Amino acid sequence: MDKFEALIISKEGKGQKAEWRRIALYDLMEGDVTVRVTHSTLNYKDGLAVTGRAPIIRHFPMIPGIDLAGVVTASSHPDYRPGDEVLATGWGLGESHYGGYAGCARVKGEWLIPIPAGFSSATSMAVGTAGFTAMCSVLALENHGVTPESGQVLVTGASGGVGGVAVSLLSKLGYRVVAATGRMEERGYLEGLGASEVVDRVELTAPPRPLCHEQWAGAIDTAGGIVLANVLCRIRERGTVAACGLAAGMELPTTVAPFILRGVTLAGISSVMAPRKLRLEAWGRLSRDLDLKKLDFMTTIRPLRDVEELAVEMLAGRIRGRVVLEV
Ligand code: NDP
Repeated sequence: MDKFEALIISKEGKGQKAEWRRIALYDLMEGDVTVRVTHSTLNYKDGLAVTGRAPIIRHFPMIPGIDLAGVVTASSHPDYRPGDEVLATGWGLGESHYGGYAGCARVKGEWLIPIPAGFSSATSMAVGTAGFTAMCSVLALENHGVTPESGQVLVTGASGGVGGVAVSLLSKLGYRVVAATGRMEERGYLEGLGASEVVDRVELTAPPRPLCHEQWAGAIDTAGGIVLANVLCRIRERGTVAACGLAAGMELPTTVAPFILRGVTLAGISSVMAPRKLRLEAWGRLSRDLDLKKLDFMTTIRPLRDVEELAVEMLAGRIRGRVVLEV
């Protein structure tokens, strides 16, 4: 492949501009493995990066795309040979190192993992950072002793990417899942993913009290802000909340009451620099515990060229589930 297409984001005044360019392998950044990218995806962070809504990109010019999957074309890393099918999520891709929105990527071998059993490069990108984060959140609940017998588990932002994978995983594992959404018209979709109850996000946006009646044994929260504060005060004695998102905001207007009076745990989830051991564990569990029919049900496939339009849609909260981008 002599030349290939890439989305390049450059600084322009106080803002940024995005343009499609044909570039060559020698334009890529350093790394010991070159991958022909066949699929990428759109995560919330990609939406922020492509639109410039938040300072995700740390060096300009940048090729965005925090996730990529494809086939190795050249490697000086001992673990990879041409023809290997691989994926990478996070590690600064699309932020400080050229990412997945291009026909080729050159990356460090230690960022890659072989496409896990049962997945293709397309379905691995249907999972992507969002699904990996959902799995890490489920692992956090398990590690803190939240079992299907403990009681109902809440998922916020359920119609989004992380939320959809979390609902599917938890329901397959036997949890009774309560899905909170701002889009009650998606009730049927959420029940299709395995939610046993669907609640309106509005119920989680009142000024939070230090403690409320105990409702859920655990929660996976993609919203943060006032939503997370409302979730924390309703968690049952010794329950756990895996906090992974900020769709409602960065702040956390709560008190220590849930922690010191109910022994609630707030478990932080961060996918970008997740160690390799956790990555392999989470992808192994995704191979085992994610229903691929449900993954397909929540996934839309679009050409990479549509990414700018999709990024705007995502930040407006109008994308349902996951989007795979064909490169
Ligand atoms: P999506 O855009 O797919 O989903 C976000 C969902 O949040 C929306 O679909 C919507 O769901 C809900 N939402 C939107 N606006 C608000 C609001 N104002 N208040 C409450 N909920 C809202 O994004 P992802 O699923 O990819 O990411 C979800 C969050 O997780 C993001 O904040 C992202 O930054 C974060 N994230 C964090 C990672 C980590 O490593 N910690 C990794 C990946 C994502 P609904 O309509 O159902 O309410």
